[in-house]
Amino acid sequence: MAPLTEYAANRDLDASPEPGATASDADVPIFVIQQHDAQTLHYDFRLAVGGVLVSWAVPKGPSTDPSEKRLALRTENHPLDYADFEGVIPKGHYGAGPVLVWDTGPYRNLRAKKEDASVSMEQALDDGKIEVDLEGEKIKGGYALIRTDDAEDRWLLIKMDDEHADARRHPTSTEPESVLSGRTIDDLAQEAGADDE
Ligand code: MN
Repeated sequence: MAPLTEYAANRDLDASPEPGATASDADVPIFVIQQHDAQTLHYDFRLAVGGVLVSWAVPKGPSTDPSEKRLALRTENHPLDYADFEGVIPKGHYGAGPVLVWDTGPYRNLRAKKEDASVSMEQALDDGKIEVDLEGEKIKGGYALIRTDDAEDRWLLIKMDDEHADARRHPTSTEPESVLSGRTIDDLAQEAGADDE
C-alpha cells in the first residue's frame, strides 16, 4: 500500500481543513505531538520517516518519567504537511474535533550512531524498536517506542533515562497550550463553537 492510501481513504479532503495526501521530503527530520479531542482526548505522536509522518495515538500523552510506559497505538501515516495542522475537524468527519500542535521540533535517530550497528528509522520501525532524541519545547531527550508482542499496532512510549528525565514534571497537564499559537484545546473548540452547536 502506498504510504498515504489509508489517510486519503479515511477522509473527504475537499471538505476537511486537513492537508492533502502528498508525500514530501524534509531536510531535517521532525517530530510533532498533536493534542486531539476526538471521541476521546489523546495525543498523536508523529515522526517524519521516508517522506511521511509515521503516527501513533497515545491516550495519556508522553511522560517525562522513565518508569511510566505510555500505550501508543500505531495509526495511519499522515502527510508531512500535517505537522503544523491546527484547527477543528468538522463534525461528521473522521477524527472530528479540535487538534493543536502541543509540541514539535527536530529529532535524531539514536540507533543510527551505535558502534556495533547503524539502524535506519525504516529498519527500526520494522524491528519494533525506535530510539529517538527529541528537541521540542516541552519534550526533550531520548524516547523509546517499543512494539509489544501481543499486537502489531500496540507500542509503548517510554522516556529514556537521561538528563531530561524528570518524574516530577507533568507537561501534559501543566503546559496544555499550543506551541504554535498559545491556544488550548478549549480555545479551539470555542472558536469553532458557533457552527458546532
Ligand atoms: Mn488523533
